[in-house]
Amino acid sequence: MGNEYTQTALQIIRSYDGPPVRIMEVCGTHTHEIFRLGIRQILPEAVEVISGPGCPVCVTPVRYIDEAIWLALERKVTICTFGDLVRVPGSTQSLAGARSMGAHVEIVYSPLDAYDYARQHRDEEVVFLSVGFETTTPPSCLAVRTARAEGVMNFSLLTANKTMPRAYEAMKDSADAFLYPGHVCAVMGTGDCEAMVQQGVSGVVAGFTAKELMTAFAVILKKIRQGRPFFKNCYPRVVTREGSRTGKELMADVMEPCDDEWRGLGCIPQSGLRLRPDYAAWDARRKYSVPPMKGKANPACRCGDILQGKCTPPQCPLFGTVCTPEQPVGACMVSHEGACSAYYTYGGKI
Ligand code: SF4
Repeated sequence: MGNEYTQTALQIIRSYDGPPVRIMEVCGTHTHEIFRLGIRQILPEAVEVISGPGCPVCVTPVRYIDEAIWLALERKVTICTFGDLVRVPGSTQSLAGARSMGAHVEIVYSPLDAYDYARQHRDEEVVFLSVGFETTTPPSCLAVRTARAEGVMNFSLLTANKTMPRAYEAMKDSADAFLYPGHVCAVMGTGDCEAMVQQGVSGVVAGFTAKELMTAFAVILKKIRQGRPFFKNCYPRVVTREGSRTGKELMADVMEPCDDEWRGLGCIPQSGLRLRPDYAAWDARRKYSVPPMKGKANPACRCGDILQGKCTPPQCPLFGTVCTPEQPVGACMVSHEGACSAYYTYGGKI
């Protein structure tokens, strides 16, 4: 049955003979899975797939890395972070470079791991680098709420949490249809994506298996010919209209919206999340009086354009020569969800 379904999707995709279509895969995991499963190879010439701003490490601005390095070197805090962020270049160096100057950086696999580290090392000041979208924000909120409940005061967050709806709006003219991120929609529900139809923006929520992704492409190609904006949830086994009530309540309790800077997209009003005043004692920026920083990206790196779908990684002159996963120049080559790393790993047409 599953194979028949996939065959039908394949037929719809292969037989597409409509106008050229640009489809933006918003989610970095989609970028990698579409490459890994070889789906790009079966798409007709008229279908262009572009990467979007859905890799949290990639959209985190350079300024944020500078803030983390400042905390580690000037305030001597222990930085707990996911591994990817350690190699992302800041204005002058990465956290890996700062390590060689004495920075204490611990790799963790979740915010609660960082919280446990803080609980077990009460003589250290511990800051977790809280980067991510609606999928990863609830665990950060849980860690802070637990710290408050248990009176653990040597733990705090350096927040760079972001929410997707304002990014969809900012990117709405970049593509004919969005492949909406399944993980984010699992938490937030489909309301924000459905509302985009009122703004003339089409898209489908997609899962991550070959069958789910091919179905999503087939639905887009079928509906695009009808000439009307559309929305379809193609990941119903995980995504509901309501999303996760627990996750949404947790975020609303601990964090509040704020204007935030996205690499490549600039400042998007109300697209970020920061800790509410009730949790100020666990907010690293307030706790350590982090000074305002500007951040300066390598001018040759085109991550900003790639995140807006304005160019593909092979069009960056540094791709694969100066910039490789071993020696990354920009965030999109560091992160395992980044478009440059996907193109480098799987190869890709320009
Ligand atoms: Fe930046 Fe490297 Fe990607 Fe070029 S290939 S855009 S330098 S990350």
